[in-house]
Amino acid sequence: MTARDAIVVGGGLVGAAIAHGLRGQGLDTVLLDEGDVAFRASRGNFGLVWVQSKGFGAPWYQQWTRGSAGEWPALAADLAARTGIDTALQQPGGVHLCLSEAEFDDRAARMARMQAEAGNHGFDHRMIRRGELDDMLPGLGPSVVGASFTPYDGHASPLALLQALHRAFTEAGGAYIPNAKVTGGSAAPHDFRVETAAGAFTAPRIVLAAGLGNADLAPVFGLNTPVRPQRGQILVTERAGTILPMPTTTIRQTGEGTIMLGDSMEEAGFDTRQAPPVMAQIAQRAALCFPWIAELNIVRAWSALRVMAPDGLPIYDQSDRFPGAFTANCHSGVTLAGAHARLLAPMIAAGALDPVLAPFTAKRFDVQTAA
Ligand SMILES: Cc1cc2nc3c(=O)[nH]c(=O)nc-3n(C[C@H](O)[C@H](O)[C@H](O)COP(=O)(O)OP(=O)(O)OC[C@H]3O[C@@H](n4cnc5c(N)ncnc54)[C@H](O)[C@@H]3O)c2cc1C
Repeated sequence: MTARDAIVVGGGLVGAAIAHGLRGQGLDTVLLDEGDVAFRASRGNFGLVWVQSKGFGAPWYQQWTRGSAGEWPALAADLAARTGIDTALQQPGGVHLCLSEAEFDDRAARMARMQAEAGNHGFDHRMIRRGELDDMLPGLGPSVVGASFTPYDGHASPLALLQALHRAFTEAGGAYIPNAKVTGGSAAPHDFRVETAAGAFTAPRIVLAAGLGNADLAPVFGLNTPVRPQRGQILVTERAGTILPMPTTTIRQTGEGTIMLGDSMEEAGFDTRQAPPVMAQIAQRAALCFPWIAELNIVRAWSALRVMAPDGLPIYDQSDRFPGAFTANCHSGVTLAGAHARLLAPMIAAGALDPVLAPFTAKRFDVQTAA
């Protein structure tokens, strides 16, 4: 049995960012990861560091997301300095393209409401008409009537990020243990024990960051994490000669020059198969946005499962029954990596979540009964 200061369960983007942050706080931390058989959103995502569509009707989520995008440059610089890995972060702003007047009007109304909800925090955005958009993006199709723009958006390489977080964590003395699925455990306040194929571990703090695995683990530690899978499919083209200067919600150019086309939102349970009709829809919309994309060969395609709460917002909690047990779940683990490593991890190390995270408690799902 190995005693540590903190156990983090799950070596995806959420767990790795938190483990890296906890190690940075000086905690002797072990990161336990199930391994290749697990569902891993962190290896199948689109790579946006995206703010503009986050927090409609939930301005606290917009603030948390924007805060994370603001932390990203420091995280990327820190990871590069520690590991030599370039996470390919670019934050030139981003656009959501509209393919009809109805889409444009809907988007304008949505962005205006987000600005109203943002209050004094503000929400810098513009609705851009086609003429101006032609100066911003090359080769738009005739169907594009305009776009929403915010300066907060960007993208990065999610695989480089995952590798950099793991390397920074282990090179700073953190213990990463793969093939260590947590199969059971026991809890008392500030006293946790987990069982894995690689042995048992104890610590006064535990962070459940096991993605879809959290749903089963949470009750053991006095937490509630009602996450479900939501499938997303992605296509990747060969390298393009055309340069896209900024990402859109569903089309971005990687540092290597390939174009990523994404990404569906499908309720398909744990079925990770690809669906050709959905892939066709993704390709068709991309070709309407940029007809030159239709000339490129698709070289890769995959599907992966998002980690989705009932209302689509993250869940962050500390157990009332077993203080020291935390849970962290979200469907935007690339975007939120800055906040997880640099804001959330220090809160966990200090033993309490900041009041700004109170709206993210899973208690919001508790059934309200009439008095
Ligand atoms: C198609 C698609 C597109 C996306 N696009 C974006 C995007 O553009 N921008 C963005 O910010 N986000 C995006 N996401 C979301 C992002 O990928 C996820 O939010 C993030 O990867 C979640 O990370 P995670 O660590 O919580 O989960 P996962 O990556 O699923 O990792 C969970 C880890 O927990 C481990 N595990 C599970 N159970 C156990 C157990 N019992 N014991 C030990 N370990 C366990 C697994 O081995 C796994 O490594 C996208 C997701 C998908 C699917």
